[in-house]
Amino acid sequence: MKYEGPRMSRSTEKFPAKHHSKKSLGQNFLVDNSVIAHIIDAVHPRADEIIIEIGPGRGALTERLVEKAGHLIAIEFDRDLISRLGARFSSHKNFRLVEGDALATDFCGFLEPNQQVRVVANLPYNVATAILQRLIEQRSCISEMVLMLQREVVERITAIPGSSERGFLSVLVEAYCEAENLFDVSPGAFRPVPKVWSSVVRLSLRQNVSERLKNPELLWAIVGVGFAHRRKTILNNLRQAPEKLGELLKRHGGAGIILCEAGVAPQRRAETLTLEEWSSIASVLE
Ligand code: SAM
Repeated sequence: MKYEGPRMSRSTEKFPAKHHSKKSLGQNFLVDNSVIAHIIDAVHPRADEIIIEIGPGRGALTERLVEKAGHLIAIEFDRDLISRLGARFSSHKNFRLVEGDALATDFCGFLEPNQQVRVVANLPYNVATAILQRLIEQRSCISEMVLMLQREVVERITAIPGSSERGFLSVLVEAYCEAENLFDVSPGAFRPVPKVWSSVVRLSLRQNVSERLKNPELLWAIVGVGFAHRRKTILNNLRQAPEKLGELLKRHGGAGIILCEAGVAPQRRAETLTLEEWSSIASVLE
């Protein structure tokens, strides 16, 4: 790790008297000690590793992680919390606080080449799936993620083919991660109390992503178009593919022929397709 000692990107400004939670930043803070302990048990931080925590908030997980992990890098967007976190944790030599937006953070940039991290987060609900997609994009330096998400999002992530919850995110996560739904957390474990239940999921990044994901850009364009209108068949969705993909489909004989070559019945709906079937459609177009 490019270790620069405990530091904050901005100075320890004055300690705010009281921090008011911001709905716009998905701030539902964990207050239930048994849930916090359960998450830390699931992470099992080690002295020989670097952990990145996204959205440390008021430090509920941070204080346990910093005790056990070799290095902890915490990325927080809320400047009011940055000053509190700095005051509370900057005496820990293994702690680095970064003020920033996880959606725009180069996670691998904190590390030396070939170093790997694990990511831990109680993700802000409003941008949780976008942050998850960003983490998957940066998978080259991430070995595992233990994430708290809305229960409904975890159900989508782990949905198998044929399930009505299956969508773009399910296929994306299946391609790159092994997902283990660990446990559910009730709204009462947070302040303010959210309206929905949460779940903690472990996503282990696959070391050998399938050989068949040779052209990921094309694959994700197809999956995106395939799920564009959930009530339509895969054929009708592909027929309405926008410009670049639409032209490619035409050059290969049109959506019907391509589905036939890939062995996918045109009347099926996107949620029934397996990752292998999506990959077969992409292979026909390569
Ligand atoms: N980890 C704390 C806990 O469990 O109590 C706080 C979790 S709270 C659900 C989400 C945290 O993510 C908040 O501290 C919020 O300010 C922060 N956050 C929101 N959007 C963010 C972003 N784009 N990048 C980094 N942190 C963000």
